[in-house]
Amino acid sequence: MKIDLSGKNALITGSTRGIGRAIAEAFAESGARVAVVGRDQQRADEAASAVGRDAKGFAADVTDTAAVAKLIDDVEKAFGSIDILVNNAGITRDNLVMRLKDEDWDAVLNANLRGAFAAIRAVSRGMMKKRSGRIINIASIVGMIGNKGQANYSASKAGLIALTKSVAKELGSRNILVNAVAPGFIETEMTASMTPEAREALGKQIALERLGSAQDVAAIVAFLASDLASYITGQVFVVDGGMVM
Ligand code: NDP
Repeated sequence: MKIDLSGKNALITGSTRGIGRAIAEAFAESGARVAVVGRDQQRADEAASAVGRDAKGFAADVTDTAAVAKLIDDVEKAFGSIDILVNNAGITRDNLVMRLKDEDWDAVLNANLRGAFAAIRAVSRGMMKKRSGRIINIASIVGMIGNKGQANYSASKAGLIALTKSVAKELGSRNILVNAVAPGFIETEMTASMTPEAREALGKQIALERLGSAQDVAAIVAFLASDLASYITGQVFVVDGGMVM
């Protein structure tokens, strides 16, 4: 059994680096045509050429809902259609709740949750017409268990999980499957600033005693995007080395 995405067009937000980039690479390796998206056109183009095959770079800030609508339109025009959407772009602005500023709340909610909503709204028209589609939202385990210093981020990821389930119910009759992947702690720029002490303390809470890789997350996203996952929708898949169980 092999993951085969040949003939499929995929759009992955936040795919210039980290988990999104690994998803783009896994999709391209499985035969998909990939739209690589970040805020800067040059970075998106560079990432797209590294992803290879016929990947193409697009610039859009997911906090700008009009820009997201234009992005979906541009990719549909360039590729003909979008079969797979991965809402991966995300940011953190950590602080204890009593010190959390309105700007930090809004920035995180707008990027992580409203951005995904805007992309789902824009892509669903084409998918409904085709009567097929896959939407995969990259949430986080902290959206399930919460985290000190991440009230905004955890709320955004919990919202993304509820968004996933609601949209799965709305679009299921059109054969559009919507799932979420909830990673634990993964080695990317987002976690690079952790001190060795914090890393060691974290390791003790993980059954596999180490952080995961972007490729660990990409593997299940590729599976969920493929025909192998045709009867799975509205679910949350935890990839955390056994941290939450
Ligand atoms: P990185 O910080 O390494 O990468 C973030 C990506 O998102 C970049 O490609 C960046 O592109 C893009 N991005 C950020 N803001 C925007 C925006 N407003 N519009 C468009 N693109 C944007 O993050 P990770 O790879 O670590 O995280 C990816 C996803 O996985 C996020 O949703 C994160 O919350 C989630 N996650 C990560 C975990 C981890 O431990 N790393 C754990 C659980 C979940 P550019 O800068 O080029 O615009």
